[in-house]
Amino acid sequence: MRTILVTGISGFIAKHCARELLEHGYAVRGTVRHRDKAGQVRTTLERHCDASRLDFVEADLLSDAGWEEAMQGVDAVLHLASPFPMAQPRDPDEVLRPAIDGTLRVLRACKGAGVPRLVLTSSTAAVVQGHQSTPRRRFTEKDWTNLASPVITAYTRSKTLAEQAAREFVRSEGQGLAFATINPGVVLGPVLDADVGASAEIVQLILRGKYPAVPRIWLPVVDVRDVARLHRLALEKPDLAGGRYLAVSEVVRFVEFGRVLRDRLGHAARRAPTRELPDFVVRAMAWIDPSVRTILPDLGFEYAVDSSLTRDTFGIDFIPFTESAPAMASSLREHGLA
Ligand code: NDP
Repeated sequence: MRTILVTGISGFIAKHCARELLEHGYAVRGTVRHRDKAGQVRTTLERHCDASRLDFVEADLLSDAGWEEAMQGVDAVLHLASPFPMAQPRDPDEVLRPAIDGTLRVLRACKGAGVPRLVLTSSTAAVVQGHQSTPRRRFTEKDWTNLASPVITAYTRSKTLAEQAAREFVRSEGQGLAFATINPGVVLGPVLDADVGASAEIVQLILRGKYPAVPRIWLPVVDVRDVARLHRLALEKPDLAGGRYLAVSEVVRFVEFGRVLRDRLGHAARRAPTRELPDFVVRAMAWIDPSVRTILPDLGFEYAVDSSLTRDTFGIDFIPFTESAPAMASSLREHGLA
């Protein structure tokens, strides 16, 4: 049996990763910022699988305390913990510091304890942003977000810089450390409990009828069950060699969310928007609501993400959007969140 450290185990994706690992015979140690979350995570996982090989350590990305203990007796690390904010913070350091310094802290602790392997959860936010001047572009694992673009959010910056810092660390100091990143798009699929933070917000707002119509933008999507599976498969891959694996089933037009949810959930999705806002209306809205400004460059920016390296390497057929979006919506309703 092997023991895997899952950082930020209270998170939406990390709980799925823990479940995937437990179901495949691994022992899992999860980090939590506060002990009181551990009981909640255990209860959730016990509802879905045998969680007898699960334990917890308290550790915060902003402090050294706990990380040495977390790494003891561990065979590999899945580093998922990182702030995933509902709204962009006034002070970008609120997301940048835990993402970048925290990732380096986890890598140093990993190296210090001689743990031989780490898979980092990055994002397509580190791949596709800031390239709106090249329409119909097809992004691959070779692409990087253009941080020089004026429209980059603090979250996008945090994911890009954290992945770059991790790769630099592994290159310069990580001799012998097997390392790879999984870069998911917007993660859909079922939530395992009601503690979902911002991760399911897009579908929650759609179901609640927050948007009467949606902007003409495109989003890369993936199912959380595939993301969890990819994390496990990456851990099991003998030669990681710094691989960068995009986890995207397809890039969908935002308006398709409303259409698919209405089609699959019927009355429960009656408030979901099925119309698009003309671009000039979105631009006018941005004068009143500054949060709208971040999407202005994306209006009409249709692009593709090529995840064939991931499909070929891991032999994975991604769950389609027409299943993953309704699965998230149904689970949110089951947990009283929509
Ligand atoms: P969640 O918000 O559900 O999980 C984030 C986790 O990080 C939580 O466990 C949270 O702990 C922990 N965390 C945040 N700040 C700190 C800190 N200072 N110290 C220790 N732990 C911290 O997000 P997701 O599950 O959606 O995301 C998980 C990872 O996947 C992140 O790295 C995210 O960037 C990435 N990702 C997510 C996508 C998505 O669509 N959801 C898309 C692409 C990438 P606590 O519970 O205490 O807040």
